[in-house]
Amino acid sequence: VKYVYRFSEGDKDMKDLLGGKGANLAEMTKLGLPVPPGFTITTDACREYMKQGGVPAELAPAVTENLASVEEKMGRKLGDPDNPLLVSVRSGAKFSMPGMMNTVLNIGLNDESVLGLAKVSGNERFAWDSYRRLVQMFGDTVLGVDGALYLDALDNIKERRGVHFDHELSAEDLKELVVEFKQITKEAAGRDFPQDPREQLDLGIEAVFLSWNTERAKIYRRRERISDDLGTAVNVQTMVFGNMGEDSGTGVCFTRDPSTGHSGVYGDILMNAQGEDVVAGIRNTEPLVELETHDKKSYDELLAIMDKLEKHYQDLCDIEFTIEHGKLWMLQTRVGKRTAAAAFRIATQLVDEGLIDMDEALTRVTGEQLTQLMFPQFDAKAKKTLLTKAMAASPGAAVGEIVFNNEDAVVAAEEGRKVILVRRETNPDDLPGMVAAEGILTARGGKTSHAAVVARGMGKTAVVGAEELVVKEKKKFIQVGDQVLHHGDVIGIDGMTGEVFVGDVPVTDSAVTTYLAEGLEAGLAAAADDEMVADLIKSVDRLLTHADHRRRLAVRANADTPDDAARALSFGAQGIGLCRTEHMFLGERRALVERVILSPAESQARAEALAELERLQFADFEDMLRVMNGREMTVRLIDPPLHEFLPDLTQLEVKAAVQRAQGEELSAEDRKVLEAVRRLHETNPMLGTRGVRLGILLPGLFALQIRALAQATLKLKKEGLDPRPEIMVPLVGSVRELHKVRVEAEALIRSEIAAFEVEHDFPIGCMVELPRAAITADDLARDADFFSFGTNDLTQTVWGFSRDDVEGTIFPTYIENSVFGVSPFETIDQRGVGELVRMGAQRGRSTKPNLKLGICGEHGGDPDSIHFFHKTDLNYVSCSPFRVPVARLEAGRAAV
Ligand code: ADP
Ligand code: MG
Ligand code: MG
Repeated sequence: VKYVYRFSEGDKDMKDLLGGKGANLAEMTKLGLPVPPGFTITTDACREYMKQGGVPAELAPAVTENLASVEEKMGRKLGDPDNPLLVSVRSGAKFSMPGMMNTVLNIGLNDESVLGLAKVSGNERFAWDSYRRLVQMFGDTVLGVDGALYLDALDNIKERRGVHFDHELSAEDLKELVVEFKQITKEAAGRDFPQDPREQLDLGIEAVFLSWNTERAKIYRRRERISDDLGTAVNVQTMVFGNMGEDSGTGVCFTRDPSTGHSGVYGDILMNAQGEDVVAGIRNTEPLVELETHDKKSYDELLAIMDKLEKHYQDLCDIEFTIEHGKLWMLQTRVGKRTAAAAFRIATQLVDEGLIDMDEALTRVTGEQLTQLMFPQFDAKAKKTLLTKAMAASPGAAVGEIVFNNEDAVVAAEEGRKVILVRRETNPDDLPGMVAAEGILTARGGKTSHAAVVARGMGKTAVVGAEELVVKEKKKFIQVGDQVLHHGDVIGIDGMTGEVFVGDVPVTDSAVTTYLAEGLEAGLAAAADDEMVADLIKSVDRLLTHADHRRRLAVRANADTPDDAARALSFGAQGIGLCRTEHMFLGERRALVERVILSPAESQARAEALAELERLQFADFEDMLRVMNGREMTVRLIDPPLHEFLPDLTQLEVKAAVQRAQGEELSAEDRKVLEAVRRLHETNPMLGTRGVRLGILLPGLFALQIRALAQATLKLKKEGLDPRPEIMVPLVGSVRELHKVRVEAEALIRSEIAAFEVEHDFPIGCMVELPRAAITADDLARDADFFSFGTNDLTQTVWGFSRDDVEGTIFPTYIENSVFGVSPFETIDQRGVGELVRMGAQRGRSTKPNLKLGICGEHGGDPDSIHFFHKTDLNYVSCSPFRVPVARLEAGRAAV
């Protein structure tokens, strides 16, 4: 096997093997850009390392060979005492995992080569600064020493010298620091900092392999649904130095603004510094344009390269570079992460610039991003108390109590309280707190700091680099001027403007939501004179329109009331895929249901209660059908077990026991109720008397619903409207159940048609939500005009999971143990439940080729599931009204 590739051997499509960083370093090398030479150790080697629990034997000779070729190219040898070659060891997995993996710079320095470096560079201070960084990074990331120990030592020496910044320390100071750092390493790690350059390199490589399985890397992967099996590549690259003096520097830039999507270059630089200073937000950076004044030649060259990269990748590129003595070097590029708003705007900009077409543009945005844009925002008109203003790093409006550490954030989140994580700056150790918080506020760092990058990736609101803000993490307070806020005080952060407010700030709908609900004109009006928002709305409109044009799946909504139905229509729903009727039996009507249940089968009382319910249902259906005029509306006959309409058994038993203890008699009425509840009580109600079973056991119920629906329909039809109800029978397991209901329904409908003297065709279909229904779908199709896959119940019955119980108990542990990456109730389990959907669809259509197929349930609004339903050739998905725009977009994406 080939475990090592030179940069000149790979390209950008080899991410599986070379990781994202390695593949793109190879691509830039291929493009002829100035990339410091190096090589990439493949993810194969990492996987083999994990399998064997050690470095595979073939790796060392391959590293030796490739190192030799770099040494030859550079005319220097790794760690040579006179003129040392130094390298960085950089991790890089297929998917970028910001800050997850360890990077070690300046490998090859030791007590001797540092002198050589000082001599050839003519810069003693620089050489010692590089060496102290190596000892520090190596100790921290390779040997597992607590990084704070080094930082404390660094702070101490700065204090003793009376300086503020690292670069103000002299060569002598740094020499002293190296001695101290080595001592710290020895004490904390129980071994000396290795002087042998090759040992440094090998340990560094191994540390990268190991870092794949750190806790924070696992948390990130779980969140991003990245497989644990991929492994990481390792890049070994010739060092170039941004810390050689004021004609050197380092920076991060974007070919467009990743936060707003504005076209035009954008970035942060730091002169006289090494790369990790920018990413860690150690010092506040300068904007990229300042580079023009520092070093115009490098600035111009960088702009030209940015343009070249963007055209080449046909997308926003995110770039890391370093300037050494006025010579520009490219250290990294990738297609950049971006906010949801930027994603939509950039996608249409690239179309307008002729780089991509609309189909491609659709693939550049996601339903998840659209969801983010629908988030509420701070009410512009509300009175707010501004605390400070900083950099807007990740959009949204977050309000919560101030917390300063992971533990407080996690505890609060578990108790359902909203918190804002406030830190001086964040690092990968803060990930659990960031996950738990509503938003993140930091005092240091730019838009490319750890906090900003990770928050954007997670879709969390973040405001960073609040320079006025003093953060006391241990003492748990923050201060701006003389205003002090403590742990637990409420603040609001605006990720669009960078504003930080004191107290609870009211939030309002986003203008994008206004657009989605009320149309382009209303959306643009809501954007008022905010050009960026107006432009965003136009982008969303173009992309959604294109998605509508391309998609094969129709999108319907689950709606039970005229209000919900109207909302669904305004969001673009083409019909109702699930109108539940049970809520229509609750509230004041519950007493009627109780009477039906408690009265003897043939009694006058039951007949009266049923008649009253029928009148009420008629009005319900009439209202709904009016709203849905001209569009299909699937009405599911009553589904839940009857006992849900009666009082709770335990409560009744307790009440009875108390009365008995006090020597009182139960009233006749109470006794009747108690008996009925006992009679109807079931141990597994979800597998009990519900759906079609209930319809067969208590015939009056389905009959009244069917009559009410038929009457409402025929009445509207007489008025000249176009009602399109579909009757859906739930929880069918056998065609005989369906057949019985169908025969009775048809008889009822015929007599209504005769009475109204209007013709109408009522489609009758069933839910496919039991395994037996999917398996016998060819039989079912004989008596069904349509199927609707009820994937919630189907998941419940295929897995045997009680869906009301598992989410809080079994699932967290299952997800932790990778039994599945995501709850099967959230994203359809394609292998199991999905297979039954596919089987049901195929068998159903083998009987009736034109059988209409839909799905209702949570999966109808889930992006991954929607792509699956598209492939399975269903006719429509049905989801909650607010998910309709997301489903439209994803159905379009699935089709391109
Ligand atoms: P991450 O994946 O966390 O961004 P990187 O591997 O990109 O980690 O390294 C962190 C920083 O170290 C980068 O910002 C880069 O500028 C700097 N760096 C890495 N390799 C080199 C090198 N060969 N020469 C100079 N700086 C480097
Ligand atoms: Mg990087
Ligand atoms: Mg169901």
